Amino acid sequence: MLGIKSASGAILVDEDGKEYIDGIASWYTAMYGHCNPIITKRVAKQMEQLDQVVFSGFTHEPAVALSEALMEVLPYNQEKLFFSDNGSTATEIGIKMALQYFFNKGEERTVMLAFEEGFHGDTFGAMSVSGLSAYNGPFEKHFIQVERIPVPTEETIDKILIDLEKRLQKKDIAGFIYEPLVQGAAAMKIHKAEHLCRILRILKLYGIITIADEVMTGFGKTGTCFASDQVTVKPDILCLSKALTAGLVPMAVTSCTKKIYDAFYQDEIVKGFFHGHTYTANPLACTAALAALELLRTKEIQAGIKRIMNDHQKFDEIVKKHPNVASTRQQGIIYAIDLKTKTDRYGTLRDQLFSHFMDQGVFLRPLGNTIYILPPYVISESQLQKVYTSILSALDIV
Ligand SMILES: *Cc1c(COP(=O)(O)O)cnc(C)c1O
Repeated sequence: MLGIKSASGAILVDEDGKEYIDGIASWYTAMYGHCNPIITKRVAKQMEQLDQVVFSGFTHEPAVALSEALMEVLPYNQEKLFFSDNGSTATEIGIKMALQYFFNKGEERTVMLAFEEGFHGDTFGAMSVSGLSAYNGPFEKHFIQVERIPVPTEETIDKILIDLEKRLQKKDIAGFIYEPLVQGAAAMKIHKAEHLCRILRILKLYGIITIADEVMTGFGKTGTCFASDQVTVKPDILCLSKALTAGLVPMAVTSCTKKIYDAFYQDEIVKGFFHGHTYTANPLACTAALAALELLRTKEIQAGIKRIMNDHQKFDEIVKKHPNVASTRQQGIIYAIDLKTKTDRYGTLRDQLFSHFMDQGVFLRPLGNTIYILPPYVISESQLQKVYTSILSALDIV
């Protein structure tokens, strides 16, 4: 266990003063750099004015301003927001909305659909729909009903669509949850927008509620503000967290369309959507999120995103020819390399690679035989080159 004492921009500093470049933006959160003064100053000021208030029967300026700002950038069909605390609760709420939507309509639909190898968090609903089962063993008996479909490729898409349409005839599926374009915890697996689109189109035809889990992909990482911006068919529900608050404090938002909202907005109490949490829409978290969103839309950050995307492409030209590399992939500022060596998700090779990077002052977290980079948008040219150099030397030793 390594003690980290401070952080600034793309750099983490440990207790001995050694510096590490944060190559994964502390799990995809600190995209505008650690302790970004633009964000910390705004939050410090908010802290002196209003720290916390119940968000039931009350509202406040930071929540209103953030909601308005989010409505401007979210896909056009998203109209209502529900606040919570983290990525797991964001997806849990999305799942509950889909299930209760049909409960409220008096329709018996209780099965959720999800991609194989998806990851959606660790509350019970979120665990149930997550296909990566390594973490879930002791709880599986208590899961909600879930069925999985393969992530589409050029070769499999037609068969997936045929099987799906057959399965949908039973009309017992309430919702489909998916990580659009990039499956993060599956080691940055990428699928085509066009294939996803064809799946979503069929699901919509059968009235299934679609839930885009953009907890990882949200806020610029895939080259557009949301991955769903690149997919013609928009989700009914969209889940946000991680970079939402720029790594400062936890918060999440689940957005939905008017159609979903209307199914809950009724006089009958049991048909309402409850489950608001104690810290729902905390003013400090809302302030951090609002500052982050403003930063994302600045020329500087947008230029940073473009530069990283271009640098990844140039780096890829070199990497993909390396004899130890099986394949590479990129989506926006996310770049991943699969090594030819087969290994366990958390096996020895993974540990060796991790130590190699840390020795060189680079923080990367390889998953199995995949090395990936997801750098903060503010990473400097020389810092990014240092990450690349450490990867090239790692490729030589595996
Ligand atoms: C990290 C993640 C979650 C869970 O978020 P937590 O804040 O860790 O609960 C859910 N979905 C996706 C796609 C994630 O990457």
